[in-house]
Amino acid sequence: METTEVDNFPGYPEGINGPQMMMDLEAQAKRFETDVRSGWITKVDFSGDVKKVFVGDGDDAVEIHANTVILSTGASAKWLGLESEIRLRDIGGGVSACAVCDGFFYRGQDVVIVGAGDSACEEASYLAKLCNKVTMFVRRDEMRASKAMQNRVKAIENIEILYNTETLEVLGEEGVEGVRFRNNISGEEADINVTGFFVAIGHKPNTDIFKDCLELDEQGYIVQAKPGTSLTNVEGVFWSGDCADKVYKQAVTAAGSGCMAALDAERYLAAKGIH
Ligand code: NDP
Repeated sequence: METTEVDNFPGYPEGINGPQMMMDLEAQAKRFETDVRSGWITKVDFSGDVKKVFVGDGDDAVEIHANTVILSTGASAKWLGLESEIRLRDIGGGVSACAVCDGFFYRGQDVVIVGAGDSACEEASYLAKLCNKVTMFVRRDEMRASKAMQNRVKAIENIEILYNTETLEVLGEEGVEGVRFRNNISGEEADINVTGFFVAIGHKPNTDIFKDCLELDEQGYIVQAKPGTSLTNVEGVFWSGDCADKVYKQAVTAAGSGCMAALDAERYLAAKGIH
């Protein structure tokens, strides 16, 4: 949902916008009479043969029972954790982790983006089309992003890359007015005037609600019980996508693992004699 142009999903020769692709996928699933419901899962109980999923809280909570469950909860954006960053994020004051969602608000303005991976490069390129100037803060003397992505960013005139640069504080009370930063080699500090502060430093898997009933690794990713399959350590519960994939993390690999999970779930049901 949060990516901009997806150029590496098969079947879209001209590329596709992430949210549009999600709508297409939902429409396709509905064509096969998939019952699509919206809700916030608050608890799960995978201990018995019948798996239980709880939607919502309190009196409005709904309990759903199923013979199998496929987990596709993905991963969420990480934040630097600075008090000023979180405060301005929470009041909608110009701090964002999603260029495609919020970039529009910074049309013609100057922004900072923190990060040096493929996501940061992709988001910086997107912002550069809308903004007057994009300054990238890279904490080391090189980027982690693929060479192709780095070259793309370096070729864009209104992107400036500051290496060895750490954010000290996001400035502003009601909204972002600037960023205080430090060069971690020289120790020199400076302020930059910007109205937007974007963070693109990776993701955390959305697996907290599974921690008591599934095996997770030290970063919280669901442990793949049998490599090459979608099995988790609990029978009848399958993974797909970024909640268990910290290596590939692409839309196409997530879709592929979703297909694996559907086939594994179907085989599991057939073996149990459930139709
Ligand atoms: P990555 O984990 O690849 O990169 C995170 C970046 O954030 C790193 O450069 C890291 O710096 C930096 N970082 C982390 N913490 C901090 C911090 N506290 N302060 C400053 N910088 C920080 O995450 P991405 O989300 O970029 O990418 C995840 C995966 O998705 C990758 O496998 C990537 O290839 C893939 N991807 C592919 C795309 C495509 O092909 N179109 C598009 C987007 C993502 P450091 O390098 O110093 O650790």
